[in-house]
Amino acid sequence: KQGGRSTFRFFESAMDEQMQARRRLEIDLRRALALREFTLFYQPQFNLASRKVTGFEALLRWRSESRGMVPPAEFIPLAEEIGLISPIGEWVIRTACREAAGWADNLSVAVNVSAVQFRSRTLLSTIVSALAESGLAPNRLELEITESVLLEDLGAATSLLNSVREMGVRVSMDDFGTGYSSLSYLRSFPFDKIKIDQSFVRAGDQDPGAAAIVRAIAALGQSLGMTVTAEGVETDDQFANVLAVGCTDVQGYAISRPMPADQIAAFLTSSPRDA
Ligand code: C2E
Ligand code: MG
Ligand code: MG
Ligand code: MG
Repeated sequence: KQGGRSTFRFFESAMDEQMQARRRLEIDLRRALALREFTLFYQPQFNLASRKVTGFEALLRWRSESRGMVPPAEFIPLAEEIGLISPIGEWVIRTACREAAGWADNLSVAVNVSAVQFRSRTLLSTIVSALAESGLAPNRLELEITESVLLEDLGAATSLLNSVREMGVRVSMDDFGTGYSSLSYLRSFPFDKIKIDQSFVRAGDQDPGAAAIVRAIAALGQSLGMTVTAEGVETDDQFANVLAVGCTDVQGYAISRPMPADQIAAFLTSSPRDA
């Protein structure tokens, strides 16, 4: 009995610690915007036909004074939970548009939008004003959404996507193949681009099943007139594979890791990949 009780106390204090850690993260996260601790890294998107970089995906980074570099997977879920994702997401859209407006005008910028941010209904006006303030042409902005955006209220989501599209902004389906009904969502909205999730791309090396899936998605995208990007291409073998099965674009360490905005110019002049 005695032992049981102390085991219980042990779990109780472990849970306590977990909750306190979360609470501290929450406090730091709430301050991060005001302290200007967020920054965007950019990862090139590479077109296989033209062998050129067509644009960059903006990836959020949190440089916390006390925690160092915190990856998005460690704070975006909490930001969604505590209602911070809308202001953070608004900062991302405005910053990405402003920075991209300084690039050559054939380069686009892709921004990830979370389902919670999508529901907040300020998204459209944020996009409109971010484009107006930056002077970025709408067709140079791309929104990346995952299936979760469409999951709850398909009608509301597609009507918002249609408004975005009418402005000239492009829409991509991110992490394709990882959700439950990726295929049916392709019918509900005419995406400009499908991004094949990295898990298929990476497994395609050894696993003929995964390779067949990548091939099938590429064919599907092609017949729907969509760009098909292979995500997470790390090695030369993976690069050759996704090229061979008909993907139109590549994103991944094989081209470049995400980089700070001030490294983009040097990256572009060093001409990434002619292989
Ligand atoms: P995502 O949109 O699918 O972004 C791709 C992720 O894969 C990025 O991770 C990128 O750094 C990583 N990656 C790219 N190429 C490779 C590769 O060759 N190998 C490997 N191992 N990884 C690669 P990151 O930056 O940690 O972002 C993770 C996720 O966080 C993103 O997945 C996206 O869902 C979310 N995220 C990032 N920035 C934002 C943002 O501004 N807003 C929202 N709502 N979500 C964001
Ligand atoms: Mg993305
Ligand atoms: Mg992805
Ligand atoms: Mg993702």
